[in-house]
Amino acid sequence: MIHYALRCEPAGHGFDGWFRSGEDFDRQSALGLLECPSCGTASVAKALMRPAVAAARDGAPGASRPAETAAVAPPPPEMLAMIQRMQEMAREVRAKADYVGPNFAEEARRIHYGETEERRIYGEASAPEVRGLLEEGIAALPLPALPEDKN
Ligand SMILES: [Zn+2]
Repeated sequence: MIHYALRCEPAGHGFDGWFRSGEDFDRQSALGLLECPSCGTASVAKALMRPAVAAARDGAPGASRPAETAAVAPPPPEMLAMIQRMQEMAREVRAKADYVGPNFAEEARRIHYGETEERRIYGEASAPEVRGLLEEGIAALPLPALPEDKN
């Protein structure tokens, strides 16, 4: 069994989910079987473990500022434009970087300390893992989830 911290997307209610595997979560999510216990929506996503981080040995613009933003009202046009720019950046990173899945923090350290080939990577990391990387001077930045992730 694996545990995911889950969050409903309309209201941001946090709750816990237990699954046989990551695929089990994906399947239940795709079938709309997951429901927020607070509001009943089936629009539910993992709160922590998601492809949301990228790193490069030499750092990237804005790398030291993990974005933790939330919007409850319809975002103003300039925020929508910013979100679109972040999504474009995320697509570009994903196109040029190696996906390392949940090994992100470990692989970022190996690159930083020269134990493996230097390259851009992206993958999954929890907030504490990202904080740990930043404290070691390893540039890691959150990437926004993309609309195509919600298939
Ligand atoms: Zn909810």
